[in-house]
Amino acid sequence: MSHSRINLYDFTREALRQQLVRWGFNGMHVRRLWAYLYLELKDSFDDMPDLPAKVRARLTAGARLGLLPTALETDSSDGFTRKYLLALADGERIETVLMRYSGRVTACVSSQVGCAMGCVFCATGQMGYTRHLTPGEIVAQAVHVARALREPRTTVGTCHLLGDKSPGSDAGVRLRNIVLMGMGEPLHNYDAVMQAVDILRDPGGLALGSERITLSTVGVVPGILRLAGEKRPLHLAVSLHAATQAERVALVPAAKKWPLDELIAACRTYSERTGRRIFYEWTLIEGKNDSPEHAYAVGRLLRGLPAQVNLIPLNPTAGYAGAPTRSEAAKRFQKILADEFKLPSTVRQRRGIDIAAGCGQLAVAEA
Ligand code: SAH
Ligand code: SF4
Repeated sequence: MSHSRINLYDFTREALRQQLVRWGFNGMHVRRLWAYLYLELKDSFDDMPDLPAKVRARLTAGARLGLLPTALETDSSDGFTRKYLLALADGERIETVLMRYSGRVTACVSSQVGCAMGCVFCATGQMGYTRHLTPGEIVAQAVHVARALREPRTTVGTCHLLGDKSPGSDAGVRLRNIVLMGMGEPLHNYDAVMQAVDILRDPGGLALGSERITLSTVGVVPGILRLAGEKRPLHLAVSLHAATQAERVALVPAAKKWPLDELIAACRTYSERTGRRIFYEWTLIEGKNDSPEHAYAVGRLLRGLPAQVNLIPLNPTAGYAGAPTRSEAAKRFQKILADEFKLPSTVRQRRGIDIAAGCGQLAVAEA
């Protein structure tokens, strides 16, 4: 039964060393094994010739490589975005997005199957919560993307996504950034996410350093406070969307549990303890949260906090009727933040919308 076998992607390097020792092997083999897993991105224990045959046999009997088979792969006509529908061992499915903009290769990874937070405009929220992902299932998404980047590909449609260079010479195109902004609420699955982060950061492996990993939360206050005490300095993004409790609850039901004043206090604690600025995300919905008054309210709310605001024009989802803010209104919003509050902001470019790979569009439909 493959399920009773341990998934190697669940293990930090130290835990894997201990596992080898438990099996009666020299823990030193972990070095080679780790390189096979995360540098050479091997997909089979048979393809690890430098490991002693006994170690390989033990791995084959008791362990598995939890690679996630692709159920569906879609390229956006924008030429910069590719979405993978990946199959988990129990038949559940998740989505992972590969983005390649101006030389930066980023994987947007999921932390749960579905999401329990129920944000009204989010396709993942609309599908409800099924389960947490294991650390190995989070890590496997990054491995999946890293492996895809190595394949010399005959590209579908547009070709700059993976093939700036001629086929076979993709060397140098490496996975550089991870955003925990796929399906699910990462701070609702705290321990698994942090373990995955440790594995992804390991300097002898994928080596996605602290500057390269961004975690986005809907505002799980206890999770933010816990993160404030961590030695893992990630970038933190907090999904705000509204500057008053009443308006926020209407969009983000989880705000009932973690009210806005407590959220802002937690953000302040996080920034004070870590010395880090937080990205505040604001999905711009026409006529709902995009007026000048709203911009002033955000500015007042974030006054004194080290902050950058990321404005995300609403992407369409089946379960929500709102429209995205037009670019004029978004610019006006930005100008108020900048001129009146010295608050830097960006407007997220709309990418991957045709394949439902944009923010908040991830669900698991096959079409
Ligand atoms: N659960 C986490 C991370 C995943 S969502 C969180 O909510 O922060 C990543 C970002 O996309 C969040 O800021 C989320 O609010 C935003 N988002 C969700 N649905 C969206 C939509 N339909 N259009 C634009 N942004 C959306
Ligand atoms: Fe969950 Fe984030 Fe979607 Fe809200 S926006 S439902 S927290 S994934």
